[in-house]
Amino acid sequence: MKIAVLPGDGIGTEIVAEAVKVLKVLDLPLEMETALVGGAAYEAHGHPLPESTLKLAMASDAVLFGAVGDWKYDKLDRPLRPEQAILGLRKNMGLFANFRPAICYEQLVGASSLKPELISGLDILIIRELTGDIYFGQPRGRRIATDGHFPGAEEAFDTMRYSRPEIERIAHVAFQAAQKRSKRVTSVDKNNVLETSQLWKDVMIEVAQQYPDVALDHMLVDNAAMQLVKAPKAFDVLVTGNMFGDILSDEASMLTGSIGMLPSASLNAQGQGLYEPSHGSAPDIAGKGIANPLATILSVAMMLRFSLNQEAAALRIEAAVQKVLQQGLRTGDIYSEGTTRVSTVQMGDAVARAL
Ligand code: NAD
Repeated sequence: MKIAVLPGDGIGTEIVAEAVKVLKVLDLPLEMETALVGGAAYEAHGHPLPESTLKLAMASDAVLFGAVGDWKYDKLDRPLRPEQAILGLRKNMGLFANFRPAICYEQLVGASSLKPELISGLDILIIRELTGDIYFGQPRGRRIATDGHFPGAEEAFDTMRYSRPEIERIAHVAFQAAQKRSKRVTSVDKNNVLETSQLWKDVMIEVAQQYPDVALDHMLVDNAAMQLVKAPKAFDVLVTGNMFGDILSDEASMLTGSIGMLPSASLNAQGQGLYEPSHGSAPDIAGKGIANPLATILSVAMMLRFSLNQEAAALRIEAAVQKVLQQGLRTGDIYSEGTTRVSTVQMGDAVARAL
């Protein structure tokens, strides 16, 4: 089983080191190869996604990705910015289905900004379409300036587009995921205003005919944003487009206490996947050794489950994370009085020991 390890920038290198530590304890026949991506790759090779990194990722069974980005690259021409690396990997590998489970661990109920009764027992799955929508439409309005800024622009636009096959395939993913859970799907769109969303809703209804055992309902994205903080447990599987999913999954992450706890998997039609925490490179805390590595470690569990067919090992990692939380160990982002504050490395060591 071959894993491409792409730590990236900022806290990416710190958290991926802990995830690799955990993987090594499992003693599975894994071959891991590391490559540069994002700002680190730009510094070394002049491009955020060098050909060699892309080739390694495409030839692997799974990619373990940290995070990319730093404010210092904001002035670069957009195709050279670190964030383009993740978009390029998604597009080239055809990673159209993004799974973001938002699970509230009982030990972290107090770390959420919501009342305990609202989030205790929370277990929802956000499925975000990842290769269409406005992020891959046609941008206009800023390409005249070479430094990526266009202060004199009078107008700028990005086109939002979806095709029927793109919506169909993510709909199947959502209905099949719901069949393994509570058999409910909420499709989120903005069909009262957007044609793209009307197509999204129509196709969802059509595909639902093939899954009579799954109940489908629809919600406008503004209402979904509100309901997620009002009554999050009312959701089970939530499926939505690329941009709405980007925003709603970050919102959902805070229900669980910290974005540092939220793993994600991005899969293509062949089951090949890219696994990364839902958060970014956190330049504000990079290099301080305080980042929470658990989202990345839990992403490794998803990797073992979805791409490497190692369910038992995935369950072991998830149980080990539960155990360290039970022991009261907390990085700063999930710390509360009465618990023990630990560093990134100490948290990784604790999970490895628990394994
Ligand atoms: P961010 O997710 O990096 O950070 C948001 C906040 O959460 C910060 O206060 C940060 O300190 C905190 N945080 C994030 N992860 C944490 C962790 N593991 N432990 C503790 N605290 C954590 O988002 P941002 O600040 O908006 O963006 C920073 C950079 O990351 C930007 O360049 C952005 O483009 C990039 N980014 C990359 C990805 C990716 O690589 N897939 C995703 C989102 C943002």
